[in-house]
Amino acid sequence: MKFKIAVLPGDGIGPEVLAEGVKVMNAVGTRYGHKFTTTDGLIGGVAIAAQGTALSEDTVKMCKKQDAIMFGAVGDPRYDDPMAKVHPEDGLLRLRQALKTFANLRPVKLFPELIEATPLKTNIVKGTDFVVVRELTGGLYFGKPKRQWTNAKGRHGVDTMIYSEQEIDRIVRVGFELARKRRKKLTSVDKANVLQSSRLWRQVTMEISREYPDIALDHMLVDTCTMRMIQNPTYFDVIVTENTFGDIITDEASTLTGSMGMMPSASIAGIPAEGVRIRGFYEPIHGSAPKHAGKNEANPIATILSVAMMFRYSLALENEAQAIEKAVEDTIKEGYRTYDIMSPGMTKLGTKEMGDVIAKKVESK
Ligand code: NAD
Repeated sequence: MKFKIAVLPGDGIGPEVLAEGVKVMNAVGTRYGHKFTTTDGLIGGVAIAAQGTALSEDTVKMCKKQDAIMFGAVGDPRYDDPMAKVHPEDGLLRLRQALKTFANLRPVKLFPELIEATPLKTNIVKGTDFVVVRELTGGLYFGKPKRQWTNAKGRHGVDTMIYSEQEIDRIVRVGFELARKRRKKLTSVDKANVLQSSRLWRQVTMEISREYPDIALDHMLVDTCTMRMIQNPTYFDVIVTENTFGDIITDEASTLTGSMGMMPSASIAGIPAEGVRIRGFYEPIHGSAPKHAGKNEANPIATILSVAMMFRYSLALENEAQAIEKAVEDTIKEGYRTYDIMSPGMTKLGTKEMGDVIAKKVESK
């Protein structure tokens, strides 16, 4: 089969890890006879430097014509000034909005061989395997008003957490559908003891749950969730939550997997169903990690696992997705590690070399 893929490397370690994602995608092509035509685009700090904007409308147009979008990371210390007119991160928010990718799936799976890389006790963290479904195009990040102003009483700033019934409905359905394919347990995370938007979230979730009698639903306050995730991470199967809560709890969750470099994500514009191709973009959850850029040391596994998700959700090729996941699993089992998940007796590899090992396994199975 033939596919068109946009490649948006971005800043910092983005280009390095994404190059390994492309390498693994091409390895899948070699093994299964697919052809990929890639088109590069600028996003983030590199786009600001070249075009004065973090994501040009031409790049958005190009992305809309592709079967899927692969993305590295954005963030550049040169644009860190909070008062700057444009920030690299604006490009990512614009992309999410333009592609209407309202659902961000973030698997949190600890490979048993990486237990040593987590700061938690083995008996607590062993067996961690859940997915966070984060709402991505609403809530606090997009709600209006969103501005700063000054008056006689001084400076003020406002952001707005707003959700419509329709926005909650579609994201909660993604959670239920994923739970159906897993251990049939859905935890809806909110702050319904304080926030009106969370109270609506809880009501809508309870109404939809009537259509999913096979799924055990529970509701958890986000503060309780942050605690439970560290005390008893195996409690969770699928979590569904709003934009900001999802952003924060998945960074926390990355400590359960050993490293930010192990956490992939898919941002999709539909509800997953077998054989259905959904528009989406695929990226590691980590940022541009500027300290590690240009050193061939960043872990490309999060990006490579994101490519597996691209095969699953945007290209509807489940066997190909599993081939990548199996190659990563075998690579870890055989003791190959980047610096962030390194432990005594293992073989330390750079970014490119880790990509080579995984691509070779994908091709040769
Ligand atoms: P970060 O995720 O870039 O890095 C935090 C730390 O995690 C790094 O210092 C490093 O120790 C580790 N790390 C991250 N990715 C790794 C990898 N692949 N391999 C090994 N170790 C890895 O977060 P930050 O330092 O807070 O932010 C840096 C920049 O990235 C900021 O400008 C921020 O706004 C941006 N950011 C972008 C995204 C995105 O593009 N989706 C997400 C988060 C942060």
